[in-house]
Amino acid sequence: MHVIVLGAGIIGVASAWYLRQAAHEVTVLERNAGPARETSFGNGGQISVSHAEPWANPSAPLKLLKWLGKEDAPLLSCAVTPGLVIGPDEVVQLEHAMAHIRPRLAGATYTSADESGDVHKFTTGVAQRAEQAGVRFRCGVRIQTLRSEQAYRVPSQ
Ligand SMILES: Cc1cc2nc3c(=O)[nH]c(=O)nc-3n(C[C@H](O)[C@H](O)[C@H](O)COP(=O)(O)OP(=O)(O)OC[C@H]3O[C@@H](n4cnc5c(N)ncnc54)[C@H](O)[C@@H]3O)c2cc1C
Repeated sequence: MHVIVLGAGIIGVASAWYLRQAAHEVTVLERNAGPARETSFGNGGQISVSHAEPWANPSAPLKLLKWLGKEDAPLLSCAVTPGLVIGPDEVVQLEHAMAHIRPRLAGATYTSADESGDVHKFTTGVAQRAEQAGVRFRCGVRIQTLRSEQAYRVPSQ
């Protein structure tokens, strides 16, 4: 199958990679000159495995109530793990870059399973390998409209 992927952010590039691994013909369309130039460029780089539920999701408050009392609840496992709340000295011990704001620190929560990474570096690296594997990238191409076979039009933003 020939699959067209719209957008070369982390999601589009990762999708293109796996589609190609599944032996599809893949073309990625991207309005910028290259991959990872928008949201996947300069985000916080936080890899929050302990916090996989988007907090801004409108359904989160209800879910939170349902999770109360459940040992495997995502927020609870994050909030009540022993040793998770740490003092200013432990913060600085774990992260020396915080030393200069030590007097202003009240404490922190620490989730040992979390990491940080460079999503721009990762996305451009995967894009490079995907291209070597045969994925076509057409950059500088703005998608104007999506049309279904029923002539339903989805205007682009
Ligand atoms: C300030 C900030 C901090 C964040 N921090 C974190 C964090 O610490 N950890 C974390 O996990 N997530 C974080 N996020 C969220 C994360 O960055 C996004 O969820 C992720 O980058 C989205 O990737 P994406 O591929 O869906 O979108 P994008 O990276 O935005 O990719 C979409 C691509 O589609 C292209 N495109 C869009 N419309 C068109 C069109 N009409 N024609 C052609 N091309 C088009 C764009 O140019 C873009 O390249 C943060 C987000 C923000 C804004």
